[in-house]
Amino acid sequence: FNKPFDAIVVGAGPSGNAAAYTMAKEGLNVLQIERGEYAGSKNVQGAILYADALEKIIPEFRDEAPLERHVIEQRMWTMDDRSHTGMHYRSDDFNEEKPNRYTILRAQFDKWFSSKVKEAGALVLYETTVTELVRDLSGKVIGVRTDRQGSPIMANVVVLAEGVNGLVGQRSGLRDELAPDTVALAVKEMHFLPRETIEARFNLSGNEGVVIEAMGTITKGMTGTGFLYTNEESISVGIGCIVSDFAETDVTPNELLEAFKNHPSIKPLLADSECKEYAAHLIPEGGYKAIPQLTGAGWIVVGDAGQFVNAVHREGSNLAMTTGRVAAETVVSLTRKREEMTAANLAAYQKRLAQSFVMKDLKKYKGIPELLHKNKGNFFGTYPKLLSQAMQTWFRVDGIDKVSKEKAIFRNFRETRTLWGMMGDAFRVVRAWR
Ligand code: FAD
Repeated sequence: FNKPFDAIVVGAGPSGNAAAYTMAKEGLNVLQIERGEYAGSKNVQGAILYADALEKIIPEFRDEAPLERHVIEQRMWTMDDRSHTGMHYRSDDFNEEKPNRYTILRAQFDKWFSSKVKEAGALVLYETTVTELVRDLSGKVIGVRTDRQGSPIMANVVVLAEGVNGLVGQRSGLRDELAPDTVALAVKEMHFLPRETIEARFNLSGNEGVVIEAMGTITKGMTGTGFLYTNEESISVGIGCIVSDFAETDVTPNELLEAFKNHPSIKPLLADSECKEYAAHLIPEGGYKAIPQLTGAGWIVVGDAGQFVNAVHREGSNLAMTTGRVAAETVVSLTRKREEMTAANLAAYQKRLAQSFVMKDLKKYKGIPELLHKNKGNFFGTYPKLLSQAMQTWFRVDGIDKVSKEKAIFRNFRETRTLWGMMGDAFRVVRAWR
């Protein structure tokens, strides 16, 4: 590679693919480097794809992308050890011409997205790991070194789309090491079943799908959530908790997943299935306060490497694609105006992001990670148990009058958490949610 590229993109996950595709489509000379054997080979996701973010990059994606089921029903469960209290939302409106959310299998989806990047004209190198950034005497990033022999590869700008670990950025002194209280470790399995069984079990027809998000005693007092998503012929089931919480307990991620799968509300949904895949991955969950420096002279950070995950709404891939696209648009605009990739010029990316849902949402929830972490015993233990006990008292018909039942429920809450405790929790939730 004698001539510098307009841009090098490190990583071929959703953020890197969005960035590389957007720049290549606008005629920039782009090199993308991915350490995996193919795009998606190293990637793990639940996985829900939010159509809006991809539609803004490839409007016709529904005609060609490997999609599993479109989501028509969302179940939010608060669980104790034997029960769940659920809020379900199901709507035929989600059976629209252009559905809003899909389940996907990341290995297939990333491979397809990568093929679009190549079609758009980018050069993509697989099985190549970027080991470090190359700088000039002023400190500006001017290229990358890889684990392949040869001279460094030069570019006007390097887009760091390397995912949650962000090792290249860390090694090059652009960001600190990940703090264990800002990252979750999630484990996930794929359970295969005939599609008719999935449809009968979840009351679905055609390509309709269901999402279950769960919290409560399933995480054994740690900050975390579980999930179950329906694919065409499989079910993705997983659970994740904050790494610093795991460090404080003897519970392993695998034990959590086994217990979640064997919960009386989950077990029948997986009955007779064949488990064929197991994966573990980190999720950046520190939110707004954990976002590292995003731009500097010759470099720009997108996706999980920038901590762009909205853990409250379980959105990550859409923030990855949006940040990838917005970073690419910034680079395209500077390239067209023949402007240098200086720190000041690339900072336009942050201004654009500040106007988008990405920063607005992360900012809105900036207090939530700390709130949940500091009060994990209550939010992931005490309240789910109290809620379940209240439901059982209320729904069990046993000759006790309803007024006495109401009193028993309120007494249980008061005696377990105290009135002041509950008022304090309510105040903290409202303040963090605003
Ligand atoms: P990644 O997808 O991690 O991609 C980074 C890429 O960079 C990888 O391909 C990696 O191999 C490559 N790479 C890393 N270092 C180097 C290097 N030095 N040289 C070359 N290549 C390198 N989000 C959702 O929107 N919906 C969900 O349902 C959902 N569920 C999730 C469930 C789980 C269990 C997990 C772990 C995450 C989930 N997420 C979900 C989050 C989502 O997966 C991420 O936000 C998203 O994948 C981030 O994309 P990315 O491109 O930034 O990073």
